[in-house]
Amino acid sequence: MNTNVVGRFAPSPSGYLHMGNLLSMLLAWLDCRSQGGKLIFRMEDLDPARSKPVYRDALADDLRWLGLDWDEGWPEPDFAQSNRTAIYEEAFQLLRERDLVYPCWCSRAKRLAAASAPHSGEREHDSGCRCARLSAGERLALEASGRNPAWKLRCPDTEVSLTDGHYGLITQNPARDVGDFIIRRADGVFAYQLAVSVDDMLMSVTRVVRGRDLLSSAPRQKWLIETLGGTAPVYCHSPLLTGGSGKLSKRLGSLSTEVLRRKMTPEALVGRLAFLSGLTETDAPVAARELLPVFSWEKIKTEDIEITPDA
Ligand code: GLU
Repeated sequence: MNTNVVGRFAPSPSGYLHMGNLLSMLLAWLDCRSQGGKLIFRMEDLDPARSKPVYRDALADDLRWLGLDWDEGWPEPDFAQSNRTAIYEEAFQLLRERDLVYPCWCSRAKRLAAASAPHSGEREHDSGCRCARLSAGERLALEASGRNPAWKLRCPDTEVSLTDGHYGLITQNPARDVGDFIIRRADGVFAYQLAVSVDDMLMSVTRVVRGRDLLSSAPRQKWLIETLGGTAPVYCHSPLLTGGSGKLSKRLGSLSTEVLRRKMTPEALVGRLAFLSGLTETDAPVAARELLPVFSWEKIKTEDIEITPDA
């Protein structure tokens, strides 16, 4: 095994996987395994209200069914984000000591949304938030109110660039393009951006393959990892599958694994995904491992892929 290459699956157990998730998992597996790399399965179950044991079990089972294996991770408890609070706390304290975080007292709904990954179209930045600019008196009054604040990261007002393995050069000024974002909710739960950065860093991940809707999170994650003293992985985003009204969501039942597994063999599904992504010329059934010799990012489409629920 080439231990210089470390990839990961990082699903959230908030629903059954759908075809779009499966495509990015297949590509993550092919990217890592075609280089002889090590693959980690991390369970991103940060949000206690949305994570369900039934989905947790289904994720692992669906990946195995599809022929995608991993070397380390779930069900080892250390690979579930819900068990890693002490680790995130340490990183949080480090950022706090460097005055990179501040309390945010804005409304509950905004703060609660922040534990999960910001998939496209979801609003991340609250432009009306004044919490970074409170007067000493305002801050004291809020602190005395007994309410717990959420915590936001002070975004760097500087250009962060990276070369995405599929989409090329990405440049972002996080302060201007994204704005300060929540890294810890008021209920104490750490948010996606902090947890994912800390985990990718500490698990020595070198290749992050996931859907393009997280592309705009990559510069922030790279910056966070470097600020915490680590080396950022190579980010490699994959096209999204869209179903008429936009990106597929876990609520789109007919394309969820739960339904797909009843009507397709794993080879038929892998063949379909490979064809849709541009990797193969026909959608003939194929096992994931048979795609290893033909896999190359150059063949994968960059534009999103429209499918209909009966596809
Ligand atoms: N757990 C995240 C999700 O399911 C993905 C995180 C990532 O790949 O960075 O949306």
